[in-house]
Amino acid sequence: MGTTPERELARRLNSLPGAVPVLFSPGLLHPAQRLGGYLEAGERHLPELLGTEAPGLRAMLLSRGDWSAAPRENARPYPFGLPYFTRSVEPPTLVFPERLAQALAPEAPLTLPLTVWHEQAHAFFLRDETPKTPLWLGELVPQTASAAVARREGLPLGEHLASIEPARFTVREFGLPASAEDQMSFQNLLLGLGATMLGEFGEGFLGRLVGLLRREPEPVDGRRAERLLAEALGEGGREWLEAREEF
Ligand SMILES: [Zn+2]
Repeated sequence: MGTTPERELARRLNSLPGAVPVLFSPGLLHPAQRLGGYLEAGERHLPELLGTEAPGLRAMLLSRGDWSAAPRENARPYPFGLPYFTRSVEPPTLVFPERLAQALAPEAPLTLPLTVWHEQAHAFFLRDETPKTPLWLGELVPQTASAAVARREGLPLGEHLASIEPARFTVREFGLPASAEDQMSFQNLLLGLGATMLGEFGEGFLGRLVGLLRREPEPVDGRRAERLLAEALGEGGREWLEAREEF
C-alpha cells in the first residue's frame, strides 16, 4: 500500500482471516463472510480445475465511499460496481464493490458467486506469464472455471443460465468497444458455452487448455485460439465447435 489514500484505506478496513483474507469496509461483516465463503470454494476447486497452484491472494469488499481509494493500476478509480483483480499491490488483490453494477444482473440467482470465481480464476490464470489471446478465449477460461466451481458446489447453474437473455452475436463476432449490456451478454454467452463444454467433454479440458496456452511462445491469434481449444477438448472437439451456433 504505497500512496496515502491507500494507507488510510488500510487503516479503516476490518479484516477476516480465511483461505483468501478479506479486508472490508465498516458495516460489511456479513457480506464479507459470504464473499470469504465463495473465495474459499474457489481456492478448493480452482487449483485442480486450472492445473495451477493458488496464487496467494487477498480480497477487499468496499463501500461506495471507500471505492476511490482502492488499489488499482490506473490513476482514476474504476466505475463503482465492477469487481476487478489488481497486481498493483502485494499480495495481488481482488476488489469487490458492496453492490454489483446493474449491468451485471445482480438479481440473477448465481451472479455473485460466479462473478467471484470469474475474478479469482483470472488471478489464477495470470499467476504465470500467459500469451495474449483473442478476447473470447481469455474470458472463456474464467467463465468456464466459474461454471465448473458452481457445478462442483451443486449450485443451480441451469436455472441461472435459463434466466439470461440470448445474445445477438456469436462468441467470435463480439468485439470491443461495446455497451455494458453487450459485454455482459458476451460473458453470459461464454458461460453457457463453457457449461455445455463441461457437460460434453468433462472438466479435464480446462486444465489442458491452460497448459496449452502456457506453452505458446507468441501471441495467440484467432485461428490458433480455435485450434488450441479444439485440441484441449480432444476427440471430436473441432467438429463439435464448428457445429455450435453460438461459437
Ligand atoms: Zn474477465
